Amino acid sequence: MTRNWAGARVLVVGMKKSGLASAELLVRLGARVRATDLKPLEQLGEAGDTLARLAIPFELQTPATFLEMDAIVISPDVPADLQALDEARGRGVEVYGDVELAAPILKGRTIGVTGSNGKTTTTSLIGHILGAAGLATQVGGNIGTPVTAMIAASREDGWNVLELSSFQLETIRDFHAHIGLALNVTQNHLDRHHTLANYAAAKARLFRNMTADDFAILNADNPMTAGYVKQTAATVEWFSGTRAVERGAFLRGETLELDGKPLMEAGEIPLRGRHNVENVLAAAIAAARAGVAPETIAAAVRTFHAVEHRLEFVRRIAGIDFYNDSKATSVDATLKALDAFPGGLWVILGGKDKGLDFTALREPLERKAHAALLIGAAAPKLARQLEGALPLVESGTLEAATRYGFVHGRAGDTVLLAPACASFDQFNSFEHRGETFKGIVDKIEREG
Ligand code: ADP
Repeated sequence: MTRNWAGARVLVVGMKKSGLASAELLVRLGARVRATDLKPLEQLGEAGDTLARLAIPFELQTPATFLEMDAIVISPDVPADLQALDEARGRGVEVYGDVELAAPILKGRTIGVTGSNGKTTTTSLIGHILGAAGLATQVGGNIGTPVTAMIAASREDGWNVLELSSFQLETIRDFHAHIGLALNVTQNHLDRHHTLANYAAAKARLFRNMTADDFAILNADNPMTAGYVKQTAATVEWFSGTRAVERGAFLRGETLELDGKPLMEAGEIPLRGRHNVENVLAAAIAAARAGVAPETIAAAVRTFHAVEHRLEFVRRIAGIDFYNDSKATSVDATLKALDAFPGGLWVILGGKDKGLDFTALREPLERKAHAALLIGAAAPKLARQLEGALPLVESGTLEAATRYGFVHGRAGDTVLLAPACASFDQFNSFEHRGETFKGIVDKIEREG
């Protein structure tokens, strides 16, 4: 439902990219906006300048900040179950996320991509395919441009391809995508969602408001996402990397099949790893349902490059390859990364622990890696859970680990950063960690 924001007193919580974009949109819609964050404005980068430009008052977050508001808009990194938010709801105040705020005024049709892993790759790939097919396409949401900043450029005849995190889906009420994808649901973000069931339920909300004219594209090989079929009125399409499906796309031998016809060979996909075959299958169905011809889809996939920090090839020095998978912040993503290489690995693991169980890494590490190079706050836990499976090196820092792999590696080996942990103990973000890794590799090369 389109709400009239003119004159409404609205608090925007969380002053990073999404919150700032929401605040700017609300000002344009005539709301009386106030901004808050747990951090003081001086520590919030661009926020100070943006809020000054928009003449939005800021106050450091306290329980009183949430009083006397008509609505509250939270950023994806603000927990939706904060006590102050529950109390506000109790007073009849509506709490919005950025997707719900933007959806009623976003023009055109929407493709929403969710899952524990592969969102950014698949979202970018769908954007690339639709763009290659000549459709007016915008990509954003949880990557790049926040959805509230996509409104101005949205078009009735265009497509909005949105990466959607569980945090964003948690707060939707009326939003519905015309095409929704659930790539996989695995153990992740348990520090915020508390249980796997809550986390799976948040992602399932993407499909809740769909009608039979919409498409739900589900991973047939993942029990959690396959279960979403019971929770949606949408037309369900399946993808599978392991078996034939009736509607959708799957891998038969080394051939990707879409709608019952061969689409392309797995070897033509310019991305490493079986998980990327799954991402391509899912993206191909989405693009086909958006009206793109199979030949156009296959041609566009052939020209798609890995998104930075996602199993990104950095460089080969003295026959040793360096791969940056800094975005592998969960055990599942690291398993996929390990799966993408035949062996000869020096794997850099560690960072900020998200409460995950690392023991699933033991078997593939034992088979494929010379050693695990442990860094950051999670190193002691990793050491306990991996002990005996393979040699462990307590490297401490990313630089020491990278150099250890290079010094001890032989031609044909690979130094792989796929840390299975968040970055925030030693870095600002996974991007910062990946950039740092690439910087270290550069330095090693310059040193000859
Ligand atoms: P997200 O945006 O969901 O975090 P990305 O595309 O950024 O996903 O990839 C994150 C990590 O997950 C990367 O390390 C990548 O290697 C791995 N990955 C990508 N696609 C999949 C998939 N379909 N299943 C499991 N892991 C994947």
